[in-house]
Amino acid sequence: MHIPFEYTYQTLPERFYSRIAPISSKEPELALFNAELALSLGLSPDELLSSHPESLFSGNAFSEDEHTIALAYAGHQFGNFVPQLGDGRAILLGELVDTDGIRRDIQLKGAGRTPYSRRGDGRSALGPVIREYVLSEAMHHLGIPTTRALAAVTSGETVRRESRLPGGVFTRVASSHIRIGTFEYFAVRKDIEGLQLLAEYTIDRHYPELRREENPYVALLHTVIGVQAHLVAQWMAVGFIHGVMNTDNMSISGETIDYGPCAFMDAFDPATVYSYIDRNGRYAYANQGPIAQWNLARFAESLLPILAEEQKEAVSLANNAVQTFGDIFRSAWLQAMGSKLGLSTAVDDDFSLIEEFLNILLENEADYTNSFRSLHGLLLERSISDCFSEPMRKSLEPWLPRWRKRLEQESGSHAAVAETMRLSNPAFIPRNHRVEEVIQAAVEDRNFEPAKLLSGILSRPFVDQGEHERFMAPPEEHEVVQHTFCGT
Ligand code: AMP
Ligand code: MG
Repeated sequence: MHIPFEYTYQTLPERFYSRIAPISSKEPELALFNAELALSLGLSPDELLSSHPESLFSGNAFSEDEHTIALAYAGHQFGNFVPQLGDGRAILLGELVDTDGIRRDIQLKGAGRTPYSRRGDGRSALGPVIREYVLSEAMHHLGIPTTRALAAVTSGETVRRESRLPGGVFTRVASSHIRIGTFEYFAVRKDIEGLQLLAEYTIDRHYPELRREENPYVALLHTVIGVQAHLVAQWMAVGFIHGVMNTDNMSISGETIDYGPCAFMDAFDPATVYSYIDRNGRYAYANQGPIAQWNLARFAESLLPILAEEQKEAVSLANNAVQTFGDIFRSAWLQAMGSKLGLSTAVDDDFSLIEEFLNILLENEADYTNSFRSLHGLLLERSISDCFSEPMRKSLEPWLPRWRKRLEQESGSHAAVAETMRLSNPAFIPRNHRVEEVIQAAVEDRNFEPAKLLSGILSRPFVDQGEHERFMAPPEEHEVVQHTFCGT
């Protein structure tokens, strides 16, 4: 099947990437396919499915392709700078302009080694492929900017990790793969021309309106600070922990990218960390705001040579921009959390109302997602004993009247408030123990039906799907997932 790929990234100089074709997988088979996303990319799902999709989505069909590339980037990993990273197990097939007119990268993860692979094998295990598929699609349906999942295939090969595991290839769709680390790559090489070309490309592709600004590069910095602050606030609102917020995993477009050891938390605790490799809790739930700001400071530093002619001026512009993060994040967080309580516009005074509710959850080790959804139930006139069990009921006693009083100030009708709450409080999130379950079925039995079922449920997260109550329940003690692992 002919796919009308375009290749604008290749208009950049050769030092931005390496030309590399996918290495064929032995016996690929299609596991998961996203027909809705294919359609939005202007591709016919029927045509795709009838023309050896496993060959397309394993990369086999592109093994002689001259247009595929791996992108160069650097990055701060757990605070340490690595001047040379790059797509070590990802290959960009090309770009498609979707039905909304937005240019999207189509990239394979796990399709073989690239010049950036270092000691890695360029392959993916099937487990992390399924994980990224389910989680990134869930994120999309929660209404949060993210890369998406077009397909997952089994490769028919095994990869060596701690043990031998079945391999897989994941097809990722992203509005681009430009990361903070891409800018760091050129900055550390003092490649000012490269930096400028990258900034120009980024503005053209993502933020063309910034062309009108007096200093488009300063405007780019401010814009990226804004989109990342909003993104992280939205993660917080759904209890998402990215797990590896290295600067090479933060997209300039403001999309969630690189689903490694990420997880949605069950019981509320701001100190929650799942990632096995994050031993010091650098990327714990509650650290994500400050870490985003730290990353954006690295972005600002990378841009210094092009922000202004005078270095002093550039430093001052960069500092001023990075300092805006706190207020932007705080108000994005207030907005996102406030709407979970039914507030159309949360103001500073609402901060303590939100914090106190979170403290009650913490004290009771209450489930984050379900507790908020239960508040929504309470608004629908369900009795408190239907919504909360003891001792939560007791803890909530002093707080509930405060909340109800605050809701009286809302101008919208009771129904409108309830709808705001429903649409801000998912009934369904990809719970770790359910995700593990579908991965296990895929890896051990090559059974992808559980993953499809879970994905289907998660495509309507705000709808009460009574028949799927099992997927709403927090884990039983023996089901709790303590650690998540990287795809590597
Ligand atoms: P990540 O932690 O997934 O963001 O990856 C960090 C870096 O390691 C990136 O440059 C990846 O391309 C590279 N990498 C991860 N896994 C592999 C692998 N199996 N083979 C080659 N490179 C890898
Ligand atoms: Mg990465």
